[in-house]
Amino acid sequence: MTHASEQILAPDALLSLPKAELHLHIEGTLEPELILELAARNGITLPHPTLEELREQYEFTDLQSFLNLYYANMAVLITEADFAAMTRAYLSRARESGVRHAEIMFDPQAHVARGVELTTAVNGIAAALASSEAEFGISTVLIAAFLRDETEESALEVLEALLSMGAPIAGIGLDSAEVGNPPSKFIRLYRRAAEAGLRLTAHAGEEGPPFYVEDSLNLLGVERIDHGIRAVEDRVLVQRLVREQVPLTVCPLSNVRLRAVDTLAAHPLPQMITVGLNVCINSDDPAYFGGYVGANFDAMAAEFGWDAATVEKLAGNSIRSSFAPAARKDELLAELAEWSASHR
Ligand SMILES: [Zn+2]
Repeated sequence: MTHASEQILAPDALLSLPKAELHLHIEGTLEPELILELAARNGITLPHPTLEELREQYEFTDLQSFLNLYYANMAVLITEADFAAMTRAYLSRARESGVRHAEIMFDPQAHVARGVELTTAVNGIAAALASSEAEFGISTVLIAAFLRDETEESALEVLEALLSMGAPIAGIGLDSAEVGNPPSKFIRLYRRAAEAGLRLTAHAGEEGPPFYVEDSLNLLGVERIDHGIRAVEDRVLVQRLVREQVPLTVCPLSNVRLRAVDTLAAHPLPQMITVGLNVCINSDDPAYFGGYVGANFDAMAAEFGWDAATVEKLAGNSIRSSFAPAARKDELLAELAEWSASHR
């Protein structure tokens, strides 16, 4: 037991906690202000042209209404500079949240589908990532996420294009509408990515059933599960995830906003920590879900009265579960040990 005074973590303590963010969609960081700025720059007329009207649209009620807005807002991303501006805006906010390493997903198919060249999206994002360590102190990894409501052929085609252009991607992921689009649909995609030496992750068990988590491990060979909260419904699966220490990149504010859980108080994360699952906290689509990774930590720590040891555990999990090189992990774990020493 710690003393009550030690359990209260000041918000700045959570922000200074060195952490990695492993579940982040760069298109989900488009804030209304930047959308309007990019629309003006590109001469695009938006269906909701004022800041007020656009902000109102962010009050969606389920996954589909969120996805509709998410894809509609991407229309403002036309040039490399637009993609770079979006990425830099995220990195700047991530730094404020204490993020020291970020693994950033982007949706190549969504851009190709609306007539934007793959190279435009990749080069724009990569340009911002190239200066991230120097400018923001954040090391980065880029992950191409494929839309599971599209065909596997479409994903394979885009993956081949990314590989042949030498896109600086470290891995692949699988996102968008989960239910009805099981992991078994993407076996060839993951086999091809593994052959190409890419790291493998996939969304599973957000809205979809626990067996999507199991199938992602068994059929796709993923190293990490994005979300995975519905795994808690299957006792045998939980035992396996604990035994194998499979990282689960949990996104609390996103889960509440998309009604995957009813309230923050009902979130399974504390239970997941207690049973020994390898969980970490992430922001998913922070512009849409009520905050960046720091806000996710804040909300959960306040809701559950977390102490320094709990948040240190979560931050440690995020660093160890990242695709960062061993030397970078050691560096960040040393920073975390330093943080702990000053917050005990
Ligand atoms: Zn996600």
